[in-house]
Amino acid sequence: MESCVVDKKPMIEQLIEKELRPFVKKIDAEAFYAEGFLKKLGEAGLFSSTNKTEKEILLDEMYVVKETAKVCMTTAFCLWCHLAALTYIRNTDNVEMKTRLLSAFENGEVLGATGLSNPMKYYAGLEKLNLSARPTEGGYIVNGVLASVSNLGENHWFGLIAGVSENKRIMAVVPCKLDGLKLKEKVDYLGINGSSTYACSFNDVFIPKEWVLSENADLFVEKIRPAFIAYQIPLGLGVTQSSIMAIEKVCQKQNGCNQFLRTQSNELQAEEQHIQEEILTLFNSESLDWKEVADIRLKTAYLTLKAVQTNMLHNGSAGYLKDSAPSRKLREAYFFANLTPTVKHLEKVLTV
Ligand SMILES: Cc1cc2nc3c(=O)[nH]c(=O)nc-3n(C[C@H](O)[C@H](O)[C@H](O)COP(=O)(O)OP(=O)(O)OC[C@H]3O[C@@H](n4cnc5c(N)ncnc54)[C@H](O)[C@@H]3O)c2cc1C
Repeated sequence: MESCVVDKKPMIEQLIEKELRPFVKKIDAEAFYAEGFLKKLGEAGLFSSTNKTEKEILLDEMYVVKETAKVCMTTAFCLWCHLAALTYIRNTDNVEMKTRLLSAFENGEVLGATGLSNPMKYYAGLEKLNLSARPTEGGYIVNGVLASVSNLGENHWFGLIAGVSENKRIMAVVPCKLDGLKLKEKVDYLGINGSSTYACSFNDVFIPKEWVLSENADLFVEKIRPAFIAYQIPLGLGVTQSSIMAIEKVCQKQNGCNQFLRTQSNELQAEEQHIQEEILTLFNSESLDWKEVADIRLKTAYLTLKAVQTNMLHNGSAGYLKDSAPSRKLREAYFFANLTPTVKHLEKVLTV
C-alpha cells in the first residue's frame, strides 16, 4: 500500500501534524468536523488522478486514508466518504457531471459523500431500497429517507441510488442544498460524531438528468464496488498499526507484566503484515475482484477489533478513561465493523 507515494510521504505527515493532530480531541469530544484538513489534502494534490493508472490512484489514496486513521479514524472515515464519491465521478459516462465536479473534487474545492449503504444492502439482499425515483420532464422526482450520510456540508455533494421500477434503478450525485431535501444532524453516537453525519429526507426532490451518473445503477455499482470497499481497508489498518504502537509503548509497565497477556504486539503485527501481503497480491492481479477485496476488508475488521481490545488490556485503567486514546480506538473500531459492508453483510456475501 505504500509504494506509490514515497515522494509525498513527508507532505502527508506534515499535513496530519499541522492540520489534523491539533483537533483530534475536539473531533471526538465536541463533534468537530475536520473539513479544513480534508480540503488541504486536495489542495496538496493528493487526490489528483493525472498521469496515474487506476491501481496507482487507489494505492496512493489508500495510503493517505491509513496515515489519517492512525491519528483519527473519524476523519479518515470522512476521507473515505470523499474518495467513494470521487470514485463515482471518475467512473461516470456523464461528461457534463465529470467536467463540473472531477477537478473540484480532486483539488478539494468541493467535498463529496455517499449514501450507498442502503443500496449496497439492497444488492446483497438485506434490505429494500429506501429511495424511489419517478421520471418527469428533464429528470426524476425522488422520495424517501437515507438514515445516515456523513461528510455533508454547505457546498458538498453526495451519491445516491433510487428505484425507478422493478427493473430500473438510477444513480445520481446531488448537492446538499435542494428544494424538498431535509438534513437532520446526528451526533449522539458512541463515536464518529465529528463525521458531519445527517439523516436525509427526500420529499419530492427534483433531480435533473445532468446529475444522473448512470441510468443503470445495477451495472454502475459493479464498476465502483471494488474501490468502494478497498478504500475502507486502510481505516482498519491505520487503527491497528497505531494500536500496536500504543501496546509497545506500555510494555514495561508494572515490571513488564503485560508480557503475560495472551495477545502480544508481534501477533498483531504478523496478522497485519499478512493482510498487507494480500493487498499486494490483489493489486498485482489483472483486475480487482470485489469478493477478494471484501475478504480482505472482513479480515481487517476482525483484526482491528482484536487490536483495539488488546490495546485496552495492555493499557489498563489509563485506557478506561473516557477520552483516552485506547477507548476512543475501541469505539471507532466498532463503527468500522458496522460500516456498510458490515461484518455480518460481508460474512453473508462471502458465504452465499
Ligand atoms: C455514524 C454513522 C455514520 C454513517 N455514515 C453513513 C454514510 O455516510 N453513508 C451511508 O450510506 N451510510 C452511513 N451509515 C450507515 C452504515 O454504513 C451502516 O449501514 C449502519 O452502521 C448500519 O448497518 P446495519 O446493517 O447494522 O443496519 P441497522 O443499523 O440494523 O439498520 C438497518 C436499517 O434501518 C434503518 N435505520 C437504522 N438506523 C436508523 C435510524 N436511526 N433512523 C431511521 N432509520 C434507521 C436504515 O434503513 C438501516 O439501513 C452510517 C452509520 C453511522 C452509525
